[in-house]
Amino acid sequence: MTPEEFRRFGHQLIDRIADYRARVGELPVRSPLSPGAVRAQLPANPPRQPEDFGAVFRDLDEIILPGLSHWQHPDFFGYFPANSELSSVLGDYLSTGLGVLGLSWQSSPALTELEEVVTDWMRQMVGLSKNWSGVIQDTASTSTLVALLCARERATNFSLSRGGLQAEPTALTIYYSAQAHSSVEKAALLAGFGRANLRPIATDENYAMRPDALAAAISSDRASGHRPCAIVATTGTTTSTALDPIKAIAGIASAQGPGLWLHVDAAMAGSAMILPECRPMWDGIEQADSLVLNAHKWLGVAFDCSLHYVRDAAHLVRVMSTNPSYLQSAVDDRVKNLRDWGIPLGRRFRALKLWCLIREQGVDGLAARLRRDLANAQWFATEVARTPDWRVLAPVPLQTICVRHEPAGLAGEALDPHTLRWAEALNASGATYVTPAKLDGRWMVRVSIGALPTERTHVEALWAQMRRAVESTDNQRRC
Ligand SMILES: *Cc1c(COP(=O)(O)O)cnc(C)c1O
Repeated sequence: MTPEEFRRFGHQLIDRIADYRARVGELPVRSPLSPGAVRAQLPANPPRQPEDFGAVFRDLDEIILPGLSHWQHPDFFGYFPANSELSSVLGDYLSTGLGVLGLSWQSSPALTELEEVVTDWMRQMVGLSKNWSGVIQDTASTSTLVALLCARERATNFSLSRGGLQAEPTALTIYYSAQAHSSVEKAALLAGFGRANLRPIATDENYAMRPDALAAAISSDRASGHRPCAIVATTGTTTSTALDPIKAIAGIASAQGPGLWLHVDAAMAGSAMILPECRPMWDGIEQADSLVLNAHKWLGVAFDCSLHYVRDAAHLVRVMSTNPSYLQSAVDDRVKNLRDWGIPLGRRFRALKLWCLIREQGVDGLAARLRRDLANAQWFATEVARTPDWRVLAPVPLQTICVRHEPAGLAGEALDPHTLRWAEALNASGATYVTPAKLDGRWMVRVSIGALPTERTHVEALWAQMRRAVESTDNQRRC
């Protein structure tokens, strides 16, 4: 494609995306398609001859768009928001259009230096001290894996330069809340700790990690000859946005000496730390060794942009560093080579997305939107809590509400089919989208507020639809 053709189709493409965002609220939130329906409409073999690019736009309208569930929809209350603010979309286009890679500082100096600047902006925005250095990873899953690799190498004084974990005399153990995200367990398994050495820790009535249970697990492991290696605490768990008590956990970690690593997974809740009133939620964070927050969730950076902060950057670099001759340059002692701050060698220019978002919205603009969502969540939780037969099942510190309809005569196991039935009716309607999930082994419905265009009216409509969905499934149940 020539630059002139790109200009023509590119303008059309921007128009299409602008139109899409303007009318996304009219589309069914969840795609109505059944499995295989998209694939069946696409040729199984690639075109031999060049096609007119306009054909791509036609397929986009007819095949791809009906096959989407719309995350940028004002009635999207599923999972967690993955906001893709349009200013950051422009940053993403820039990154792709410029097509540069950050293998080393020299391979594109501005890529590295803008990343240093915007990760430091974000450090200030969330109230972290200057002791932290940041880097952008693709996802929280990767950041947590990198954190556990750093923990492993600190605890073993660089076993990777010898026989690795396979040659360690004692098994290393990893601690995390039983409510932690699945990526924590996955990272621990991929980092080679082994399932037998993973310790999910019991949670309290608010679904937060119990420090006494953590301390007991660590003592018992020490007594049986294991070596406690890392704790992963979560600020804002995925099911209910529970807040592990970081300060108490950090106290337990430091009482064990400097060997026990503390990583904080604030993938979702980290965005809220731009609000000073939310920072008590991660009180004690300065005592952690590493943390992750996803700018690609609530904050609004187009996926992917996960901010990984560390206190000992030299340690991270020592664990991740490779230095083949073709990547060396004369300025290496004066610059950051971000390949040494994570797993991949090639890095996209992700900093542009965050830079565009922060500049276009301003910190105050971002904060105002998050406060809007917090207020909507409180309104919704209050409405649910005061309605007969409805329950809010967990504290609501942020924007996610765990709810269940518990009509008279239904309890325990019998609630599960009822919950799943009305949630599916709601989602199948296309009018709104929520995520059923299990809490205490029982199905409930998570309502996660905070898509960019979601205003109070959308939350009010959701609440009305939920009550209607329950009524119609109740009627079916009685018939
Ligand atoms: C979303 C989330 C993750 C996973 O994030 P990815 O960036 O998709 O890997 C991990 N932990 C928590 C608490 C999350 O909310």
